[in-house]
Amino acid sequence: MSLLENLNPEQLAAVTLPRESALILAGAGSGKTKVLTARIAWLIQTGQVGPGGVLAVTFTNKASKEMLHRISTMLPINTRAMWVGTFHGLCNRMLRAHWKDAGLPQAFQILDTQDQLSAIKRMFKVLNIDTEKFPPKQLVYFISAAKEQGLRPKDVEAHDEYHRMMVRLYEAYEAQCQREGVVDFSELLLRSFELLGANAALREHYQSRFKYILVDEFQDTNTLQYHWLKRLSGPQGCIFAVGDDDQSIYAFRGARVANMAQFERDFDVQNRIKLEQNYRSVGNVLKAANHLIANNKGRLGKELWTEAGEGEPLRVYEAVSDQDEAAFIIDRIKKLINEEGYSRSDIALLYRSNAQSRVLEQALFNAAIPYRVYGGLRFFERAEIKHALAYLRLLDNADDDNSFSRVVNFPTRGIGARSIEMLQDLATQQGISLFRGVRLMEGRPAASLQKFNELIERMRFEVRGLGLAELVDKVIEASGLIEHFQKDREGEDRIENLKELVNAAASFAAAEGYYQDKPATETDEEKLISPLNDFLSHASLEAGDNAAAAGQDAVQLMTAHAAKGLEFKCVFVTGLEEGIFPHENSIGNSMQAGDGASVDAVEEERRLMYVAITRAREQLFISHAQQRMLHGQIRYHMRSRFLDELPEEVIKWLTPKRAHVASQGWNNAGAGDWGSNAGFSGNGGGYGGKKTTPRPYPIGTGVAHARFGSGVVVAYEGEGDELRVQINFGKQGMKWLMVSLAKLEKV
Ligand code: ATP
Ligand code: MG
Repeated sequence: MSLLENLNPEQLAAVTLPRESALILAGAGSGKTKVLTARIAWLIQTGQVGPGGVLAVTFTNKASKEMLHRISTMLPINTRAMWVGTFHGLCNRMLRAHWKDAGLPQAFQILDTQDQLSAIKRMFKVLNIDTEKFPPKQLVYFISAAKEQGLRPKDVEAHDEYHRMMVRLYEAYEAQCQREGVVDFSELLLRSFELLGANAALREHYQSRFKYILVDEFQDTNTLQYHWLKRLSGPQGCIFAVGDDDQSIYAFRGARVANMAQFERDFDVQNRIKLEQNYRSVGNVLKAANHLIANNKGRLGKELWTEAGEGEPLRVYEAVSDQDEAAFIIDRIKKLINEEGYSRSDIALLYRSNAQSRVLEQALFNAAIPYRVYGGLRFFERAEIKHALAYLRLLDNADDDNSFSRVVNFPTRGIGARSIEMLQDLATQQGISLFRGVRLMEGRPAASLQKFNELIERMRFEVRGLGLAELVDKVIEASGLIEHFQKDREGEDRIENLKELVNAAASFAAAEGYYQDKPATETDEEKLISPLNDFLSHASLEAGDNAAAAGQDAVQLMTAHAAKGLEFKCVFVTGLEEGIFPHENSIGNSMQAGDGASVDAVEEERRLMYVAITRAREQLFISHAQQRMLHGQIRYHMRSRFLDELPEEVIKWLTPKRAHVASQGWNNAGAGDWGSNAGFSGNGGGYGGKKTTPRPYPIGTGVAHARFGSGVVVAYEGEGDELRVQINFGKQGMKWLMVSLAKLEKV
């Protein structure tokens, strides 16, 4: 079975586990994601489940794409029926299929973080809220936090006037979203969770459908996500969770490492598998990572080892300034590419905050080195793209007031602020959307507003029957946006971007199999979604980083957060300064995790540094600057404590190490089994091409054994009377048994 080749014994055991819940708790680069994808492929290949019976959830769009890609290279199947995606993506899929039961309009739109903030600002205006006293952003946090605890306004306890006000605003916000047919990110989850709770038939349908649920990066799930998984999996639920407590980096968004322990209790998990061999990084990188993370308290505790050689030492550079740091990096990148044969995409530049990328980008640009930035201002968040999307959304759902407000007078069509205020008042009074409100308007201001409504309705008429890309093209043209930007001196880039949006629609349609206006999908639930609607969801949910520069060989820039789960041959971790990394907000602080438990903020930063270091496969460079320009001022920082927590013997100082930071005093304990070699044969079930004895049970079959209980057939070995079968008995372990003696029964 080529799927199982190259797995070590623990990985093999994990991949082939019987249908029982399991927690794979393992360090960076130990093959957790590999095991998870191999398990999906194995379950399907051996007929234990069809593609439609699998649900796998990961943290980012990039990771879920990668997962689908890996599965489709292992198995020639259509991956569309499989539910693989992010929590948001999967919840969206469910709500699209059951919009009515979920109490949503069919073409509900998704608000991204930016949209959510502007929706709240708009609401504050209508309600006359003092934004000094109640900053809109605080309401965003309040609402997200409440939703992530599964709390609706009526469930939130408020003990003081401020909180009572927040709850009232939360309530008003909900009413506004409902009226406009829009949902924010946390609403996707909560809605889907409540849908499953309220609708027994639906719940049972999904519970029996998803025989296998698999979760990557489990350590970063929040309370609501955990309960969603629990509800979806049901009483007979089987969840295969993989994670690493040392890589939990989202406590600030409510992630809850304690979900691991709770999962083990709730699901009575008997299978806890550890993977300790690292296949990603050279020895020095791993040693540095182990050493660093040992400074955290309360770890579940694990040590990684590798068979790979030590590799190059970590190169540490102290720059005079951020400019100097960038120059050093450019110099090294050139060496890596020109002298050491790496390609640009082998190289990643990591930083703590997006604001740090500007100087690096400038330097790369000046050196004419192609690069690509993940995160930052995403393609779909650019103003001109937002405008175009607003028109498209109005075609789909005219009650979307956010979109209406954005473009009713953009490009300008002589609609005054006064008219819009009147319209707003009327709509509020009547409890209807702005679009509908226009119909009730009278007098002079009504005329120009009505023209806008007619424009939208005309567009809707004109795009009927068009393919997705043509439709987007047509709407951009008819909106007057192109014409508007042609007059603008800096409009050229914006027009380029609008054209890129048409391309994005075309490649989305191709990737999703949409031709003309017919969705080419098999499952009923998907037929309900129009390509436009699907594309708009994609625009809200997708990081959008694939629009430009895709496929080009480019140096990769991203925050350490965004790098989670990824790997690169050469990694630069930049800005290792106190106040930058660890972030200034973390020092001396703790924060609240999803369950209100206190999380030491510097420990969280240390885990983030651990994530950053463990992305490197071969070469790791770490740099810091004595001064840097940040948010418009020059700031002086000390070297990060994390640098001093790395073991001296793996470091090569490219600049003299200065003694200005008190050494925290590390010890080398724990590195004792360094380089030890567990040595495994890795070829569990190979047999030659000779005439073979018939195998009584196909691979993947469930069998029962008097002593070991039930298990799953994994492999065969030997011939004739010597025929042996390998069975994974879950908690009883992996066994080789003589077929002639074992008295197996098929289950
Ligand atoms: P992270 O914690 O960073 O998400 P991970 O545990 O998910 O890491 P993977 O990304 O699955 O690790 O694997 C790391 C690398 O090691 C990948 O390149 C993977 O292909 C490789 N790898 C994993 N297991 C093996 C194996 N048994 N033999 C060879 N290579 C392996
Ligand atoms: Mg992974």
